[in-house]
Amino acid sequence: MNDEASARAWSRRRFMGGVAALASLGSFAAACTGQPGQPGRPGQSGQQGQSPGSAGSGARTGSGVDAELIARRYEGLRPFAPPPAPPEVKPVHLSSSRPGVFSRVPVSDKVVFVTIDDGIEKEPAFIQMVKDFQVPLLISLADVLIRDDYAYFAKLYETGYVSIQNHTVTHPLDMPRLPAARQLDEIAGQQEKLRREYGTTPYIFRPPGGSYDATTINAVGRAGLKGMMLWRETMEISDMEYQTRRRALRPGDIILTHFRGPAQLHGETMVQMMIRLFRHIQAQGFTVADITKYV
Ligand SMILES: [Zn+2]
Repeated sequence: MNDEASARAWSRRRFMGGVAALASLGSFAAACTGQPGQPGRPGQSGQQGQSPGSAGSGARTGSGVDAELIARRYEGLRPFAPPPAPPEVKPVHLSSSRPGVFSRVPVSDKVVFVTIDDGIEKEPAFIQMVKDFQVPLLISLADVLIRDDYAYFAKLYETGYVSIQNHTVTHPLDMPRLPAARQLDEIAGQQEKLRREYGTTPYIFRPPGGSYDATTINAVGRAGLKGMMLWRETMEISDMEYQTRRRALRPGDIILTHFRGPAQLHGETMVQMMIRLFRHIQAQGFTVADITKYV
C-alpha cells in the first residue's frame, strides 16, 4: 500500500466529499451522490469476506431465470448472463488491520457491481424484482432510514442475492467533521444493529456522501470492518452519471444507486429506476456479479 497515494486520496476525498455534503445538506435523497475521486489502494492481505445472504431457497445463478417473465414484467429487459467464475484469489484484498479504499475491482471480464444505499424506499415489488432477476446486489444501510421497517430488508436479505453492509447509524453527510469517537460510534453502532436485526456481520463500509478522512478509515478498522467502498458511476432517475469522460462502463466498475421511490424520483418507482439501470448495463454488454466474491 502506498501511503502517500492514500493520503492524497484522503485529502481529495475530504475536499470533494465536503462540497457534496454541503450541496445536499438536509436531503437524504441526495445523500450519496458525491463525486468520488480516484480509488485509494486497497489494503494488504485480507481474510475471506463473507458471502451474501444464504438464507434464501437456493441462490441459483442466472440460468434459472424466466426470460419471458422478465421481458413481460420489466419492459422488455433480458435476464443477465450468468457471471463468469470469480477469480480464485480476490483481486481486492481487505483487512481490518489496514482497511483499504476502493471504487472498482481490477478485472477484465465484462462484469459490474450494483450497490444500493440508504434505505428510505421500501417497495415490495423490488424484492420480487430481485427474485425474478436473481441478481447479486450489495446494499449499504443506515439505521435512521431503515428503523421504521427492519423487516423489509430482512425479506430482501432472505432472497439470498443480497449482501448487507454498513452505512452508519444516523447518516452524517460529512464524517470528517465529526470527532473520532463519534465516527467510531456511527460505524460500530451500525455494525451492532445490523448484526442484531439480520444476523450478519458487515465487512465493508460505505461513507455517506462519499466523505471520509483518515480518522474514518481508522474507525472502520476498529469497528472490525475491512474496507471502504466508493463508486465509479451513479444511477439517479433515468441517466447514469459517469465519473470519467468516457461515459461508458468499464469491467469491475462499482455502480451506486439508492433505495428511492416516487417522492425522491419525481414520481417514478424504485423498480422503474432499476429497470433503467439494468438497461444501461445490458446495453453495454455487461452482466452483474457478486462483489463479495471479488473483495
Ligand atoms: Zn447514503
